[in-house]
Amino acid sequence: MVKGKQSAVTIDGSQGEGGGQVLRTSLALALIYGKPLTLRRVRAKRKRPGLLRQHLTALRAAAEIAGADVDGATLGSPEIAIRPKAIRHGDYRFAIGSAGSTMLVLQTVLWPLLSAPGRSRLRLEGGTHAAMAPPFEFIDGVLAPLLRRMGAAIDVRLRRHGFYPAGGGIVEIEVEGGHSWRPLELRERGELRERRAVALVANLSRDVGVRELGVVEERLGWSGADLELREVDSPGPGNALLLHVGGDGCSEMCSAFGAIGTRAEAVGRSAVEEMRAYLAAGVPVGRHLADQLLIPMTLAGGSTIRTLRPTLHTTTNAEVIGAFIDAPPVIERHEGGTATITTP
Ligand code: ATP
Repeated sequence: MVKGKQSAVTIDGSQGEGGGQVLRTSLALALIYGKPLTLRRVRAKRKRPGLLRQHLTALRAAAEIAGADVDGATLGSPEIAIRPKAIRHGDYRFAIGSAGSTMLVLQTVLWPLLSAPGRSRLRLEGGTHAAMAPPFEFIDGVLAPLLRRMGAAIDVRLRRHGFYPAGGGIVEIEVEGGHSWRPLELRERGELRERRAVALVANLSRDVGVRELGVVEERLGWSGADLELREVDSPGPGNALLLHVGGDGCSEMCSAFGAIGTRAEAVGRSAVEEMRAYLAAGVPVGRHLADQLLIPMTLAGGSTIRTLRPTLHTTTNAEVIGAFIDAPPVIERHEGGTATITTP
């Protein structure tokens, strides 16, 4: 078990970002450091506070892999408590029962499973391409390669796409825990040599994807082999636009999701604007990747990344980590809106 501050931890779920991130990060750390956790005012800053399906699945998943006793594991619950035991590797299936993000359930159990020795196979069912969450390809193409560089053994496979609202996506993940973490050093971006825009379309007119890719062509100047329209199987309709750039040791994916009432051009513009902001900043680590790297960087120690202006998810993760250990990540902001994050 990794060493952290002593005693049980109580966290106010309304702090910082005040949403699901506080829950996921504190659950992961409670398991890793073997500490009882009480989380009050769960998702207090949200219109519908308390546990939604995705969060409840994450809590149950955490309890299952750590043989933990839990209180408050019901939909809408405003307060939870978990008393973890040892992390158990094995075969697990966690079904959200809605289009809630499988990738966010993974964000809860991945770090504990990588921290304890043994091989685990996870089957996650729910949303794979949901707004406000990493799409599957982000985990596969951006996060997982960096984790492998840090010494983690992880393999992810998409079996079926799941979009909001029908869900029904399936992802399989295989991890081998217990490898020691290597520090991550990502200060410079280097040359970006690859770029690709993929419009995913399920049970909708191809025209949706064609129009999104048209925006990418017009506003980013990407063309020909850079653009792909991919029709995919899914239980319901769905659409996502994924913009991926990569080079020496760093990559980024900016995405946007189709929704009823949102024009394809607006979806295209949203992903393009995010990619433009990343390209203009000159840093290697994108804004979503930054918050997702804080736990592995903390476990590895001695790590440094340069990123865009830290999001509330990033600062909140750093605060929550500080409730578990004495030396949480340090965020140094620079003029011009970039930042350097280090872990002692
Ligand atoms: P709530 O805030 O309503 O409780 P939630 O628990 O569903 O919502 P958030 O707390 O918003 O979700 O979690 C967002 C997580 O998903 C963060 O780790 C963030 O970096 C990541 N994320 C969001 N959008 C993207 C994206 N487009 N690409 C990659 N990662 C993303």
